[in-house]
Amino acid sequence: MPTVTGTDDVFGEVAEKFEFLENFARGYFKRLGFEEVRTPIIEYSWVFRKTLGDSSEIVMHQMYSFEDKDGKEVVLRPEGTAAAVRFYIEKIQSAKPRAKLFYIGPMFRRERPQKGRYRQFHQIGCEMFGFDSPESDAYIIFILSEFFRNIGVQHKIEVNSVGCPTCRPRYSSALKEFFEAKTLCEDCQKRKERNPLRILDCKKDIEVVKDAPNILDFLCQKCKSHFELVLNNLKNFGVKFEINPKIVRGLDYYTGTVFEVFSTKFSNAIAAGGRYDLLVEFMGGHPTPALGFAIGVERTVDLLELSSERNRLGLFICYTSEGKQKAFDFFTRVVVSLNLISAGKGGTSHVGEIREHIVKRFDISVEGTKSLKSQVRYADSQNFRFIAIIGKNEIEKGVITFRDLQNSYQFEMKEDELLF
Ligand code: ATP
Ligand code: MG
Repeated sequence: MPTVTGTDDVFGEVAEKFEFLENFARGYFKRLGFEEVRTPIIEYSWVFRKTLGDSSEIVMHQMYSFEDKDGKEVVLRPEGTAAAVRFYIEKIQSAKPRAKLFYIGPMFRRERPQKGRYRQFHQIGCEMFGFDSPESDAYIIFILSEFFRNIGVQHKIEVNSVGCPTCRPRYSSALKEFFEAKTLCEDCQKRKERNPLRILDCKKDIEVVKDAPNILDFLCQKCKSHFELVLNNLKNFGVKFEINPKIVRGLDYYTGTVFEVFSTKFSNAIAAGGRYDLLVEFMGGHPTPALGFAIGVERTVDLLELSSERNRLGLFICYTSEGKQKAFDFFTRVVVSLNLISAGKGGTSHVGEIREHIVKRFDISVEGTKSLKSQVRYADSQNFRFIAIIGKNEIEKGVITFRDLQNSYQFEMKEDELLF
């Protein structure tokens, strides 16, 4: 039976890559002082309707919204920023005007499914509240770039400024004039009246957009000098980037700096973000400058090559009926002392190696009525590196036999040598 169109089950190697990416992100962003927030997957629709803009692709076509039994309109969140802002205003702002948050989780957009474009997908996002300096723009682009470098994803960064309410109307008028005589898709025909900037982000009208006026020629002095300082600071951080005046982002809340990250392998963006200095106030909070980005997990997972070979890993305990009680005792003792084992150092090289594998993966046969041979075959099929064998012979000698399934040799060891 199929999953809902545009959704997929995550399993096996892909699940491992998801896990790796999420774990890496948690460690990386926490180390940089970001705190995790897990906002609900459903929100009242105003959180997104008001903020993303009527002419945005998401609000026009892609939101999963429904009326709840109490008559309130609820949506499956299509993105994370507006929800993070709602949370910041409600729970953080009064105590701590400056905050660095990150989130990881599923988002929902009713898009036409294709490679790298799903109806349920995942994002890892960071948001910084209370920062208005050009250094902070450069910093957030730098840490995003470093994120991809650290996980071995080759990428390029494109930056732009979308101006502010002082300069953008002039640019909007110029665009409107430019598009007046042009043939546009149905959606952009509407966008021309409501928000002509949005046309630059259209996936259908790419040809028409080519010679459109350049937003950077229209920036007010304040936006212009902020953008120049951002570019300087990016150089200070050693970030390689290109300026792309066509990047406008699909959402209304951006002001000033915006950026997108592309892989060198496909044309869709793998991450995107920017500054949204007016959004907190717009949603009812105290005026607070802010900026952030979101990384597309599925698109990034597609590019990940986990170097940690799918090697044999861990220790699996097998036993005969005579060894069963001792095997269960050994298993229990290991589970109880896992923390000690992972902290433990020293011992012979055998001890060290077995401990190392126990910490990574450790299990026991629960089909003891099966022959030892079939238990070993199971461990082998599950890619365990070592098996512990406890049978009559081991009970008599007071040892455990360890067999290395990768290098086909075995040795005996006393339980007390291994454990504490
Ligand atoms: P696109 O231009 O590809 O539609 P977007 O501008 O709508 O992207 P954002 O809202 O900026 O995307 O989301 C940030 C990132 O989330 C994107 O760069 C992309 O990697 C990922 N993303 C967005 N929509 C999807 C989707 N439907 N399926 C998978 N990943 C997505
Ligand atoms: Mg989109």
